[in-house]
Amino acid sequence: MIIIKCAKCNGKIFKYIKIGKCRLLHCWKDRIAEDLSVHNGNNIECNCGVIIGIDKGKESDILSGINSNSAISTAKPNQQ
Ligand SMILES: [Zn+2]
Repeated sequence: MIIIKCAKCNGKIFKYIKIGKCRLLHCWKDRIAEDLSVHNGNNIECNCGVIIGIDKGKESDILSGINSNSAISTAKPNQQ
């Protein structure tokens, strides 16, 4: 489990079940354990207004365009 945080305000965006070690460039929606983001049209935003990613709209597909400058992922090694 990792926590995706906003790089600007450090607020939580979502908890995500990460599989594998590759960089987080997009998120499968069905692996988002807890969604704390703001959905503004197709944009996935933090409460502070930073755009974290884009919802491509497919049902269980991805939030792609995760911007590594606006989102930080934090591993939670004690949780799986
Ligand atoms: Zn923020």
